[in-house]
Amino acid sequence: MRASTTGRMLHDPKGGSFWFDAGAVCLDFAHTGGEGRYAVFETLHEPADLGEWLAEPPLAAVMTVPVTARELIAAKALRQAIWDAAHAQAARRPLPAEAVATINRAAAEAPLVPELIHELVPAPVVGGTTAGWVSPVRATQALSTLAREMIELLSGPLSERIRECASDDCPLVFVDSSRPGARRWCAMERCGNRHKLRAHRARRATEPDGG
Ligand SMILES: [Zn+2]
Repeated sequence: MRASTTGRMLHDPKGGSFWFDAGAVCLDFAHTGGEGRYAVFETLHEPADLGEWLAEPPLAAVMTVPVTARELIAAKALRQAIWDAAHAQAARRPLPAEAVATINRAAAEAPLVPELIHELVPAPVVGGTTAGWVSPVRATQALSTLAREMIELLSGPLSERIRECASDDCPLVFVDSSRPGARRWCAMERCGNRHKLRAHRARRATEPDGG
């Protein structure tokens, strides 16, 4: 079966990178770049960049038909819609109508079709049955699959667990699917530790002997 782990390495244009797991492929996809002040984070410059992103696990949708310029435009519109809807949900605001329409439009296309791979040689791993996607594999289908995942997420029990990172200046959004449901940070190594350091400094500053 395809690996079920979500998450991607994100690169800060100012330097440094960190692993960020948004908890769902569609939410990971929402962090591939953006518009306006988020344009500096853009990673999908060419249609081929989109193909490369989709080919990575857990989606592992290797395009059999090259991604078109139109599909890249549609992908960015869907990405913005997922981003907007996730933030609205995190803030418990009504979902923006435009975002809803864009997600629904993408989902209306035929999605990726899964298939079991018949292997002549038993795979060397436990539970070695593998699955792939029926060819042809097009970006439009992958976008439909992402949009459908977002619809499930927003209309399912985990919608309550869609959150923005607790750091004041961090807009990263994720779904907390952990059992305790106590996740606060985009990534501990980024905002979590920064917060701990600040709290530590604040504590020292208030101590009478100056720490
Ligand atoms: Zn953060």
